Amino acid sequence: MAERLSHAGGSPKPVAPSKPDVIVVGGGIIGLSTAWQLQRDGAEVVVLDPAPGTGASHAAAGMLAPIHEAYWGESHILRLNLAASRKWPAFADALGVDAVDYRRNGMLMAAYDADDKALLDNLGDLHEREGLPVERLRNRECRIREPLLAPGVRGGVHSPLDHQVNPRRVVAELLNRVPTILVSATEVADNQVVADDGRVMSCRQVVVAAGAWTGRLLGLPIRPIKGQILRLSGPEGLLQLPVRGVVRGSSVYAVPRSDGEIVVGATQEEQGFDTRVTAGGVYELLRDVLALLPGLSEINLVETWAGLRPGTPDNAPIIGTGDDGIVYAAGHYRNGILTAPITAAAVAALIQGHEPPVDLSPFRPNRFAAPFGHRDPIDGISGQLSEVSA
Ligand SMILES: Cc1cc2nc3c(=O)[nH]c(=O)nc-3n(C[C@H](O)[C@H](O)[C@H](O)COP(=O)(O)OP(=O)(O)OC[C@H]3O[C@@H](n4cnc5c(N)ncnc54)[C@H](O)[C@@H]3O)c2cc1C
Repeated sequence: MAERLSHAGGSPKPVAPSKPDVIVVGGGIIGLSTAWQLQRDGAEVVVLDPAPGTGASHAAAGMLAPIHEAYWGESHILRLNLAASRKWPAFADALGVDAVDYRRNGMLMAAYDADDKALLDNLGDLHEREGLPVERLRNRECRIREPLLAPGVRGGVHSPLDHQVNPRRVVAELLNRVPTILVSATEVADNQVVADDGRVMSCRQVVVAAGAWTGRLLGLPIRPIKGQILRLSGPEGLLQLPVRGVVRGSSVYAVPRSDGEIVVGATQEEQGFDTRVTAGGVYELLRDVLALLPGLSEINLVETWAGLRPGTPDNAPIIGTGDDGIVYAAGHYRNGILTAPITAAAVAALIQGHEPPVDLSPFRPNRFAAPFGHRDPIDGISGQLSEVSA
């Protein structure tokens, strides 16, 4: 189905359908990608958000890094992230590779001192066990790949599969394609949304993709995890590769864009819905990144920002239909930019009754319910005993 456009004000804007098939609550990268996928599949869709694109998606660095985001005990997240990475070339193509600054130049992880090297070696063991394509590098080899690295760097890991994109540009492209209404949802059911302007909107299916605010709206265990992040500006090509560093036990990264911007992030803080930038946060990021990449000290600091990652108790996203009939696409924590295309494809498949492109069982919304169901204590105990003895 062709996207419906109006030309009011000169620039074509998608028009909201009067009777949408699907209402998506939340216009960050997850909600917008999902709406766009559904729209491309022929559905009439509208996104509700009072301030689309201003949440975590505006803060994000845009690393598409399944390998450097792999952690022990999170194989199911790794599989989702790898599947997401495979979706990115077509997704970026459809939006315009240059328009979203999608770059497939790999990523380098570097260790600052001997203890940091031990941490990296431990991750290297995980990469090997999972059969991930990485190359372990000595000090000199790291500096050949990225000459800006400090001479003392102890070694590193290069991952050709980890890529990058500019999330702000992705969101801008999606907003050009998907109709939005600038309201906040106050009540949500599977086929109806009440907005803060009093409107009641009906549809066949509601999708909730309200990022860190999803928990507030619907009581799921999603909490905000604050990330402070900086933007530097220097000559194009100053930094050749995205670099992640472990510096005296702390993690820091620098992601170069094609226009000379370098994104430096990010803190991880449990501060509730607080998005203030602090002197301490900026100091720690600059201290660590300049230890790793001293040459960055000469270029301009052009922006400080803080966003809220939507975190879940097990670090995995929530993707699927809840017991309430609402479809959830939320809780993407540190990898929502990477996993936007696969989430969109999975949600579209669910709504259309097709097989999702990945196994969604580890991500089902009701996995945080009581582990043995709502049994009374005596039945509960006997139930557990019979399960053990079976
Ligand atoms: C500092 C930082 C760096 C990051 N770096 C990366 C990275 O390099 N790679 C990566 O993959 N991920 C990264 N992330 C994570 C990524 O940004 C998130 O996982 C992703 O943006 C989540 O997208 P979202 O659409 O779910 O949430 P958001 O972008 O937060 O969007 C949620 C939207 O919901 C709207 N909303 C809230 N309540 C309502 C309501 N009641 N009604 C209607 N709308 C509502 C909000 O206005 C908002 O626009 C980073 C995050 C941070 C903070």
